[in-house]
Amino acid sequence: MECGEWRVKRGTRFLNHLGFTDGHTKEEIVVEAVSVLERGLFFPPELLVLRDATELIVLHHTGGAAGEDPSAAEIDAIHRGQRWLGVGYHYLIRKDGTVERGRPAPVVGAHTAGVNARSVGVALCGNFCEEEPTAAQVESCAMLLAVLASAYDVPMDAEHIVGHRDLAATACPGDALYARIEEIIGKAIWYCEQ
Ligand SMILES: [Zn+2]
Repeated sequence: MECGEWRVKRGTRFLNHLGFTDGHTKEEIVVEAVSVLERGLFFPPELLVLRDATELIVLHHTGGAAGEDPSAAEIDAIHRGQRWLGVGYHYLIRKDGTVERGRPAPVVGAHTAGVNARSVGVALCGNFCEEEPTAAQVESCAMLLAVLASAYDVPMDAEHIVGHRDLAATACPGDALYARIEEIIGKAIWYCEQ
């Protein structure tokens, strides 16, 4: 509970700063607001492409076996094995609610074919075809969405905050997470109003 309150207070403080971005990039504000853990993943800078626009936030699960809670570094290794630049998601939300950075937020990700150039990819760790997201993941996801939507002027509705399956023939992000998206958007709106 203390952790949750701390997150809310900290998020509120920085959400209030969103209108006063002098001297801070949006990226820095996003980092501060949700305490994104930097994992020091390396991406070749010359190969990273800045997005022209951010119109969508796409929710994913990491898949794999139920109960797995892969770190950003582990997903990075898997994606490199597919000959990608590195982890394709911008954020990973672990089962304890910790938010880890994947690919730097301003650059084109590799998570949803066709919309990578205009979307942010957020993956919750787990396989929600077979298990439920944790309460901590749901709250962290809502907080992260609140900050990202504010930073990038993405409307907080079901047309702009979507599941991977809304855009492609995939089970991702699993029935159990997909069924919670409307609730998570509602929580994100609440966080923004604090
Ligand atoms: Zn996905």
